[in-house]
Amino acid sequence: MIEARVFCSTRTGPQLLMLGGVHGDEPCGTVALDRLAQELSSGQIELTAGRLTLVPRANPKAGAANERYKDINLNRVMQKHENPHHYEHFIANSICQHVDHVDLVLDLHAVTAPSAPFTFLDWDTPATRSWIKALNVPYALTGWDALYPGETGSTTISYANGKGKTALVVECGQKTNPTTADIAYRIARLTLAHLGLTGPYADDTPPAQTKIVRMTKVVWKETEGKLTGAFENFSPVTAGQVLAQLDNGSTLTADADGVIIMPKATAVMGEEWYYLAVPE
Ligand SMILES: [Zn+2]
Repeated sequence: MIEARVFCSTRTGPQLLMLGGVHGDEPCGTVALDRLAQELSSGQIELTAGRLTLVPRANPKAGAANERYKDINLNRVMQKHENPHHYEHFIANSICQHVDHVDLVLDLHAVTAPSAPFTFLDWDTPATRSWIKALNVPYALTGWDALYPGETGSTTISYANGKGKTALVVECGQKTNPTTADIAYRIARLTLAHLGLTGPYADDTPPAQTKIVRMTKVVWKETEGKLTGAFENFSPVTAGQVLAQLDNGSTLTADADGVIIMPKATAVMGEEWYYLAVPE
């Protein structure tokens, strides 16, 4: 069962869906959307136009266990399943129905390493660009789809885009840092203001010029070993720099000057370990 809270203005306007907890170990979206629901219910925030659907716990069983997923990664199977057999297939069917009935989707996530907030610009449209600008995030990543050929249609964003919706995923910061929920809340409020569902939101964050960074490589953990430094997300790397020391004696190096993306020191065998990216 998925719980959705729906808030309708008496004035027509955009229909927006916000998702938290698609990954159960990323509580920032859940905390932010619970707070938003409470503030809308109490009248502290007024919805001046449109309709807002909040799903704070998109993967309830994983969220309750503080685990990324129960059976399989929900954000790789976000599509309609005619013969659902994993827990996340049933969840995806329910979330996709919500997506079908809105114009726009915001999906709130977090990452493993310390990180500034960032978003993805794989579906590059004027509407997406102006939304990103309104969020005042330091980074937007491109190139995700090229790293996962044949798997498009399986994330929240690709499902929504395939249905003609405008959608953004925002990685709000480090998942274990409680302040990441404050950033998720800020992203949600800025989105509501930008899309005209509420009045303006006073953002006290200094203006950021969003840097666009293109992902060039995903490195899977295929041999035991460890990262050579306490990398943060967007830590700069130089061509030839050793990034991982493998137990078999060999090393993994950076191909080019750029940044390391979403390094996961705790990655297990078969998981994404880190990505490499270059400035656009
Ligand atoms: Zn996530």
